[in-house]
Order: sequence, then structure tokens, then C-alpha cells
Amino acid sequence: MAELVAARPEGLWCEPGRFFIDPSQPVERALITHAHGDHAYAGSARYLAAREGEQVLRARLGDIALETLDWGRRIDVNGVQVSFHPAGHVLGAAQIRLAHGGETWVVSGDYRLEADRSCSAFEPVRCDVFVTESTFALPIYRWRPQREVIDEILHWWADNAGASRASVLFCYALGKAQRILAGLADAADASLPGVIVCHGAVASMNRAYRASGVALPPTSTVDEVERAALRRALVLAPPSAARSPWLRRFGTASDAFASGWMQLRGTRRRRAIDRGFVLSDHADWPGLNAAIDATGASRVVATHGYADVLVRWLRERGLDASRFATPLESESSEEGNGR
Ligand SMILES: [Zn+2]
Ligand SMILES: [Zn+2]
Repeated sequence: MAELVAARPEGLWCEPGRFFIDPSQPVERALITHAHGDHAYAGSARYLAAREGEQVLRARLGDIALETLDWGRRIDVNGVQVSFHPAGHVLGAAQIRLAHGGETWVVSGDYRLEADRSCSAFEPVRCDVFVTESTFALPIYRWRPQREVIDEILHWWADNAGASRASVLFCYALGKAQRILAGLADAADASLPGVIVCHGAVASMNRAYRASGVALPPTSTVDEVERAALRRALVLAPPSAARSPWLRRFGTASDAFASGWMQLRGTRRRRAIDRGFVLSDHADWPGLNAAIDATGASRVVATHGYADVLVRWLRERGLDASRFATPLESESSEEGNGR
């Protein structure tokens, strides 16, 4: 009998359900874990995703034929029972549970265990087979609590503002930026050190978050802010905006990058930026292990990242572990090498 989920060049294929999960090519029916560029592609005939991510997904893919599901609601797709469960990664990010022929699989998508108010918190789902991401599956990756990192960002910004220097913080436009915005608003006791200016790519995701009911602090576009105020501003921009003419508007600025990869010595230096803040929307090594344990799965399939390391480790622990060969391992420019 065919496996319930198998890797195909287009994406993860569910044979009995006749659908793909996160296909990278146009297909008849696509189930989407989340709206990041390496998971949500345009061109498929029909989409199914978690309701929480509807605004974000539409902002990314435009006018698609999209059906959405509330968390935990089970529907039948060609005899496969399908439901979506929060992955805690970005707004609307889901783990997809599939039950068929007495077997339950969960496809994790990307996930993060530390909860915050920018999206629904990760929820462990019991299953027989867990298809897990493994982006940061090395024992060196251990995140500090988000609150500590946000405080660091706040201090860096306040110091720069005190010296009349803009603070340019590179971060992914979908998810990371809104997590930082919500975190800063919650962490600042009184008022923030200055205005927050967002690059257009970040602003459009902010709109989708606000439309979904996530409260974010006020943000401006560069044209809305007076020159003097720009020198005290925090600027949120995607990494792709580095060295763009847009950035020249801020004059001499301090720059930083918020990403899990900042834990690697040398990453910051190679990117020639002043500061690196270790803040990831993915599970760290203890998080991956905790999530895998919580599923109760006897079989684990790793995708995405350091899959081989995770597989070896899980086999040593007596689990049936393997990896999906993902021919499309290259991530989009969005998540790229800076998740
Ligand atoms: Zn992602
Ligand atoms: Zn991803």
C-alpha cells in the first residue's frame, strides 16, 4: 500500500486524498501549512489552509480559490480526514493532521515552541508518523527567551536614538517583523524611543496581521516621517533591502539582523552588520526533541535543514527515523539563509 504521504518533485503528496501539501508547482489541490515563500506558491487550482492565515495568504498569493478551516475542525478529503493545528511559527501556520486507514500522520510545516501573541501557540498533536522540519536540528541551537532578545533590541534602539542614529533591523517581512513589533510594544514600559518605520514588504504583512485581529504598535512609511525623527527611528526591512537606495534615506545608521542564524559566529561578520539578535521562528534543538516526544510518534520523517543529523540522533534513541528527499531544498529569497 502506498504511504499516506510521500515526497514528489511538486511537494508532499497524499495519494488517497489526491492532494499536495505545500506544492512548489501548480497542482489541482494544495493544502498549505503557511504563507512563507517556500511553502505557499501561486498557480494551484484550489487551496485549503487554516483560517487564521487567510489574510496573510491572500496578501501573498492574491485572488486564489481558498477554502479555510478553523483549528481542529475535521473534514473529509477523498476519504482522508484532514485537520489543521497551530504550529506557532507565523500567523496561520499549521501542522496538518491526516488520518486514513487507521493511521495518523502529522505534517508539521515550520514550527516554533515559544508562544507569543503574534500567532496561535504550537499545539502538540498525537500521531503515528510525524513529518518534522529540521531547520535548526543541531545541538548548538538553543534559543534564549524571546523577552530577553526583545529587551536587547529595545536597548540597542534606545542607544542609537540617543546618538541620533537610525536603527535598521533586518528581519523577515512575514512573521518575524510582526513578532518583534508586538514584542516591543509589550516590553516598552513607557514609550518607545522613536517612531517605527516599515519597508513596504513589512507594511503589507502588518496590514494582514492587523486585519486578522493582531494588535501591533503604530508604524509609518518613510515618507510619513520628518527627517529629524528618522534619526531616532527603528526601521524594519527585509534582508533583500540591504544596500538598496531606500535605505539611504536614513543616513548613517546602525544595522542589525534578527534571525536564528545569528547564533552562528561569523554569520554577522559575513553580512557586515553591526549587531545580530538571535531570534528564530523555528524550534531549536531542545524544542524539536520536545515536539517529537509530545507527538508520541514511533516514526519520524525529517525534512528541511539538518535532516540527516536529526535522523541519526532519533535512530540512536530507537525511533524509526528517515528523511524526505526534498529536491526543492533551496528556500526562497524570503526565508533564504536567515530564518
Ligand atoms: Zn516558514
Ligand atoms: Zn520553511
